[in-house]
Amino acid sequence: MDCPYCGYHDSRVTDSREVNEGIRRRRQCLGCGARFTTYERIQPVSLFVIKKDRRREVFDREKLLNGMRKACEKRPLPADTVDRLADEIESELYRLGRAEIPSAVIGDAVMRRLRGLDHIAYIRFASVYREFADITALKHEVDTLMDGAVGTVPSSAQLPLLPDEGVAVVARGPRRSGR
Ligand SMILES: [Zn+2]
Repeated sequence: MDCPYCGYHDSRVTDSREVNEGIRRRRQCLGCGARFTTYERIQPVSLFVIKKDRRREVFDREKLLNGMRKACEKRPLPADTVDRLADEIESELYRLGRAEIPSAVIGDAVMRRLRGLDHIAYIRFASVYREFADITALKHEVDTLMDGAVGTVPSSAQLPLLPDEGVAVVARGPRRSGR
């Protein structure tokens, strides 16, 4: 930082204190002895999201919140859940240290959290985010979720595939002769 009076390139810091969102330093020029003050502030980083269609837009926390709010609507979750998740995801994104982030990274970050939190909210979010084309895609997602929930055993091995199977077993039970 050049001295504003004589242009000398070096100065001594005589005092340094934190002020609103920054640091103020009192300096004395090592050339002419003049005193001056510098401020150091954090430059807010703009984060850009690259959408699926390659469009680029500024990261919008409100948008992230809205998507999660819809998914979590009327679910038995603490009131601050969505805000807390947004905080976590936001700082995760900034920690990546990148100026541009594919929207898929954000979507996946939401999915990972909702999955461990509330399966209905997860499926709701997934149905919008993954744009399920049909019921088969939705079923596949639910199946994957169920498999994860019960460990490595496929869900089909635990439950009868058709509700009728249960009924059939009862019907095949010992018959009483009505004669
Ligand atoms: Zn100077």
